[in-house]
Amino acid sequence: MPQAGLHGMVGMGVRKWIGGREWFLLGAMLGSFVPDMDNLGVAIATLTKTPTEGIHRTMTHSIFFMLLVVAAFYLIGRLRKDVRWYNLGLGLGLGMLLHALLDLVVWFNGVELFWPLGGEINFWANTVPPEWFMKFMEPAEFLCFGLYLWILGGWARKQNTDGDFQGKLRIWMWLEFALFAVFTPLAYIMTRGYLTVFGALYLFSLFMTFFLTNRMRKTIETAAGR
Ligand SMILES: [Zn+2]
Repeated sequence: MPQAGLHGMVGMGVRKWIGGREWFLLGAMLGSFVPDMDNLGVAIATLTKTPTEGIHRTMTHSIFFMLLVVAAFYLIGRLRKDVRWYNLGLGLGLGMLLHALLDLVVWFNGVELFWPLGGEINFWANTVPPEWFMKFMEPAEFLCFGLYLWILGGWARKQNTDGDFQGKLRIWMWLEFALFAVFTPLAYIMTRGYLTVFGALYLFSLFMTFFLTNRMRKTIETAAGR
């Protein structure tokens, strides 16, 4: 379970090999956040007291879902006669694929890469990580969102893009760092209600970072060398 912001930073790395495809890097960065949005389903199931199994790391982490997304955006591109939608879809597919692969390689959980055919792949089945480490993984989500926004802001400053939004982006970045500072001790001392508060703020941060990425698309297009 690498942190969502870490996935975002991997999505940023695609920058080097995309050539001149408009909206492709944007898609890859957005796509790297999409699979973990299934945590919203987990949250709803928890709140409504229905079973949470089979929600996280299944559909949105599946190769078939990625192909469906690419195909859907290909169709939109054809209908609108605009190749950018196709690029966006390819980028989304790549970002999601990198996410699922990174999930497989790093950190103690399996992924249903071929959902709904089943067969969870888990390289970590025989590993039990220390409890203090697993607890730290949760507040580290906020740290990684902050670092991701820090890099994005760095691109904007260097290129002089999205100047009207750089200040606001910095506020969001500091908010994530502040959440990291607050939740790191809480992860160890707070017992009742911790997961609910953490989960709500995590989901908020995940969707916020997704929207901030889209808001900064001029910066991302420029960073892609366009
Ligand atoms: Zn994931």
